[in-house]
This record gives sequence, C-alpha cells and structure tokens, in this order.
Amino acid sequence: MFTKLLVANRGEIAVRIIRACKEMGILTVAVFSEADREALHVSLADESYCIGPAAAKDSYLNMEAILSVALGCGAQAIHPGYGLLSENARFAALCESCGLAFVGPSPKVISLMGDKDEARRTMAEAGVPVTPGSGLIQDQAQLLEEAARIGFPLLVKARAGGGGRGIRLVQEEEGLLEAYAAAAQEAKAAFGDGEVYLEKYLKPVKHIEVQLLCDKKGNVRCLPERECSLQRRNQKLVEESPSPAVDEALRARLMEASRKAALACGYEGAGTVEYLLDKDGNFYFMEMNTRLQVEHPVTETVTGLDLVKWQIRIAAGLSLDFSQEEVQLLGHAIECRINAENPLRNFLPSCGRISLLHIPGGPMVRFDTALYQDYVVPPYYDSMIGKLIVGAKTREEAVRKMQAALCELVIEGVEHTGEMHMELLALPEFLSGSYTTDTLQAHPELLG
Ligand code: ADP
Ligand code: ADP
Ligand code: MG
Repeated sequence: MFTKLLVANRGEIAVRIIRACKEMGILTVAVFSEADREALHVSLADESYCIGPAAAKDSYLNMEAILSVALGCGAQAIHPGYGLLSENARFAALCESCGLAFVGPSPKVISLMGDKDEARRTMAEAGVPVTPGSGLIQDQAQLLEEAARIGFPLLVKARAGGGGRGIRLVQEEEGLLEAYAAAAQEAKAAFGDGEVYLEKYLKPVKHIEVQLLCDKKGNVRCLPERECSLQRRNQKLVEESPSPAVDEALRARLMEASRKAALACGYEGAGTVEYLLDKDGNFYFMEMNTRLQVEHPVTETVTGLDLVKWQIRIAAGLSLDFSQEEVQLLGHAIECRINAENPLRNFLPSCGRISLLHIPGGPMVRFDTALYQDYVVPPYYDSMIGKLIVGAKTREEAVRKMQAALCELVIEGVEHTGEMHMELLALPEFLSGSYTTDTLQAHPELLG
C-alpha cells in the first residue's frame, strides 16, 4: 500500500479523500491555490503546498506544479477527485511517466471514454444498447442527412462535453443549422474541441447509472444503480439508490450491460456507466465517467462499501475481495446537492463568510462538505458546497429523513439551494418515483 498520497483537488471531495487516507494509514499531501490558504482540505492534510493563483487554470489545473510537488515530497500516488484533472488523459500519462500511480483508469481508457463518439462506437460493438444517433458531423450535407434519419427533436452534443455543458436541444429542422454552429462554437470555447454529433432526444426518460469497481486482475463488480433524473440544465440536483423504476430483472440487465462495457474497454478502478431508461424498460448507453462521481455516497450508503478506499486499493494493485453475489443492497439512500446559488435569482452563484453553520446529524445522516464556521466561500470555483446524504430501510423513510435533515441544515452567510430541495422532495412526481429528466421543466416556479 502507498505510504503517501497527493490529493489534486479541493472542496468536499478533497476532504473525502483525505479522510479515507487517514483511515488507511496513508499520509496525505494537499495542494492549494492562493485563494484556498484557509481551506479545510489544507488543514486536514499532513502536508500542504501552494501551487499558484486563484484561477483553477493557474493552480488546480497546473499539471507541472502538481507533479513537482508530488515528486518533491515523495508521494507515490495522486488522487484527482472529480472535475479538474480527473478525466485528463495527458495528466494520467504524465503521472505514469513520473513513476506516480494515478488513482483512476489508464490514460488510454480515459481518452477513449472522454470522446463520446468513440465511446458510443466501442459500446455498440460490445453489444451495449446505445442512444440512437450519428457519428461526428463533418459538414452541412451530412448534418441534414443524419438529422432527417434520426428525426426531431434531437440533441447536438459535443464529443468532449461534460458537466451538462455542450448540449443543444433542436425541436425542428428550422433551428438545426443555428444550433449546430452554436454548439460547435460553445464546445470549442469550453473544451477546446468543437466536434459534435447528434443524438435522438429521448423523452420522457430517466437517468440511471451503474457504478463499477474493477481491479487490475480483470475482476468486475457492478453495484446497484443510482437514479439522477432530477436535473436542471442537464445537471443533477438529487440522486437516489436504488431507482424506484428498476426491479430485479431490469437491474440484472443493467449490470450485464455495464459488465460488458467495462470489459470492452479494459476498465480499471471506479467508474460509472450512464444510461437513459424509457418507460418500456429499454435503456441506452449515454456515456461513461472514468472517475469518482459526486453522487458516490448514495452507493456507499446502500452497499456498505467505501468507494474511495477501493479506488486507492485498486490503484495499489490489490484485488477486490468480494464477489458479485456478495454485493448487498441494504436499503435506500438519497443525496441532495447543496449549491451556493440563489434559486430566486436564476441560480446566481453566491460567495462570502459563513456566519452560522449547523450540520444535521442523527443515524444514517451524512453531510460531505468543506465548510466550517467563518470559512469564506471563494468565488472562483464550482458552487457546490455540500452534499446531504441519508440512508434508511425504505424509500419512504429515506424521504422523511431527508426532509428532517434539510429542516435542520443551517448555512448563513451565502445563498444556497437547501430550501429548494424541500420543494423538490415534495413534488408528487418525486414521491411517486415517476419523475423523469424533464420533470423540473414542468415546474419553472421551483427553478426561480
Ligand atoms: P456528470 O455530470 O459528468 O454526470 P457529476 O454530476 O458527478 O457527473 O459531476 C459533474 C461535474 O461537475 C464534475 O465532473 C465536475 O466537472 C463538476 N464539478 C461539480 N462539483 C465540482 C467541484 N466541487 N469541484 C470541481 N468540479 C466540480
Ligand atoms: P454530460 O457529459 O454533460 O454529463 P450526458 O451525455 O451525460 O452529458 O447528458 C447529461 C444529461 O442530459 C442526461 O443526464 C440527460 O438528462 C440529458 N440527455 C443527454 N442525452 C440525452 C438524450 N439523447 N435524450 C434525452 N436526454 C438526454
Ligand atoms: Mg453525464
């Protein structure tokens, strides 16, 4: 096992990783920007180093700075968390060539799955059902031809997209050319890659995903699905496991497809296969995320597995010590993402000093955060400031526990989305479990 690990991230996920390392007896190294001197991950780590100015591109995305810290302090591994460098194949390759273990899959798998067009082709060849769509669009003639074949409505999607960005909905042929140009331009600006493809817009659908753990010996374990259909602008707000729409037979089919997906690309580490599920029980591969996901705690809650510890063990070459049959589904878990944003002002990000903080407690209530009393939330980074996760025997109990926990949560000093979650949980569509990815579009009053 490693004796020292560098955490190349910030916020709640850096804290989450440091905690896992402490429990495993691994020394931790934090890196931080000039804006994060007072950040919790810095004070919790055994060592910490400033790697540059506030802007992420000058610090948390500065590969050379991070690698020199790792080499200089004798770290053996780097955990990238999510976002930032976690899906950067070049960074993973640089780690390798410096003799550092990158906690994640190989650079080859990262770049294969990071290209959604290639990922779709790989999965289709492996026999995984894929959302109907096109290959990369080369010119206008092909655009019109493919659009006519797929039919409207459709989505123009960036092959390099992520975080809900780089997706344009086109209702009818009229708006196609404009959406294509805009999507390509937006993708070029956001991801440095303007290549796009088309996908049939499936509606109504649920977002269902399967968490994988794969070791370096070829062992693949599929964990019970998560549902993440409550979304705003294609970004997840609430996640739960299991999905109220998935029965044992469907779960077995989802797991079988995900196993094929993992084997098709030679996956190693923790990863997630995302699908769209229609009302007839058909599901379609959407993308694979080659990293730890924001919503991993719901899976930890229902399986009793520590996904971060497993990521680290796998990176160190250890084998999975439980069989697929031993994977348990112990109850029901829900997560609400708390963002420092004002829902009444179109989710405008909010920053400032935390003047009062009360974190909910009680059995099976977890709040993953890097907040503390008097901490100043900086304006430079992602606005997610905490994740409230609850677990219970049944879905009904979990919903009630989440409502109680949300009532208890106090974060003063910044605007945040905690109260909005009370309303989301009270939606009839959520309570019945019938909600889909477009449910919130029908409730504009909840979205400011
Ligand atoms: P996806 O939207 O790709 O299915 P997630 O919802 O788990 O996956 O994560 C959304 C993305 O949002 C992350 O990959 C990351 O790019 C970004 N993100 C969310 N929260 C943070 C954060 N606190 N720090 C950095 N990036 C974040
Ligand atoms: P990202 O990499 O940004 O996470 P995804 O491909 O995972 O992009 O899509 C994000 C979200 O957009 C999905 O969870 C879903 O709600 C919606 N979406 C994506 N593709 C489709 C589709 N073909 N039909 C309907 N909704 C879709
Ligand atoms: Mg996605």
